Amino acid sequence: MNIDKLVGLIGWPVSHSVSPAMHNAAYRELGLANWFYVPMPVSTTSVKDAVMGLRALGFLGANVTVPHKEAVVPFLDELGDSARAIGAVNTIVVEEDGRMIGHNTDADGFIADLKERGIVVHDRHAVVLGAGGSARAIVYALLKHDCKKLTILNRTKAKADELAYSFGRMFLKAHIDTDVLEKKIDSCDLVINTTSLGMAATKGSSPWRDDLSFTREQVIYDLIYNPKQTLLLQKATHDGACALNGLGMLVQQGALAFEMWTKRKAPAALMRAAAEEALFS
Ligand code: NAP
Repeated sequence: MNIDKLVGLIGWPVSHSVSPAMHNAAYRELGLANWFYVPMPVSTTSVKDAVMGLRALGFLGANVTVPHKEAVVPFLDELGDSARAIGAVNTIVVEEDGRMIGHNTDADGFIADLKERGIVVHDRHAVVLGAGGSARAIVYALLKHDCKKLTILNRTKAKADELAYSFGRMFLKAHIDTDVLEKKIDSCDLVINTTSLGMAATKGSSPWRDDLSFTREQVIYDLIYNPKQTLLLQKATHDGACALNGLGMLVQQGALAFEMWTKRKAPAALMRAAAEEALFS
């Protein structure tokens, strides 16, 4: 087999990632037999060498995951609009002339997943739980799509204030606050969990208070996709709300990266099936 189109994943650790399964299944589906997606574990001290190595080794690009999404930025030649606004890169494209462009497809991937499910952000009130790296992408996505009101809640309130301040300067008409949970629950349309609470290591924890109920009209979106249903989503389902996990966002951000590299339409449904198989079978 003649593999001459290489892309991969820069992160630490990467062995658990479903991206290789997702992308390689898509190449097979579209008959792109000369393409291959490689997991590349990169320590924090080797980020520069790894990014420079992409060009030296003839890679067409790479995805970037935790903890390097911000660390790769100084080593790239240019940033796309979303990556510049968010301050983090999850997709690198190596252009034909060798320039390396950093993009962020997390924000658009999140919106694409909502759109596919018929969920509108325009003119809605959203509550974002968490103020870490993924919260930046979600806050940017919501404001870019004209969310009417945004509440950011975080364990460390100073970080929520900082996030609200930096995006408040970027979107001058936005109404952003970092108020307390109880005051917001009745008026919001969409709750998005971007904290890591509920992942395998904290499976028994939820970022939501048990005594605060959801309504049938609300959408509760958890960026976590493993486990499939966190405690937060179990509660949302119990209360009759629309409960969604982050697998759709993972697939859509991957599909957007796939399209940037191959210039072909990504087979998103197949990528989702490949991700599910890698995660749960
Ligand atoms: P991060 O930058 O480390 O941020 C973690 C956030 O969780 C912070 O706001 C932190 O609050 C909060 N947190 C952590 N432990 C907590 C606890 N015990 N109690 C309350 N809050 C707590 O992480 P990240 O990169 O944003 O990722 C967060 C989650 O999103 C992960 O589960 C990741 O897998 C998921 N994710 C999913 C996708 C997708 O495509 N579906 C994409 C990106 C990320 P403090 O500020 O107070 O520390």
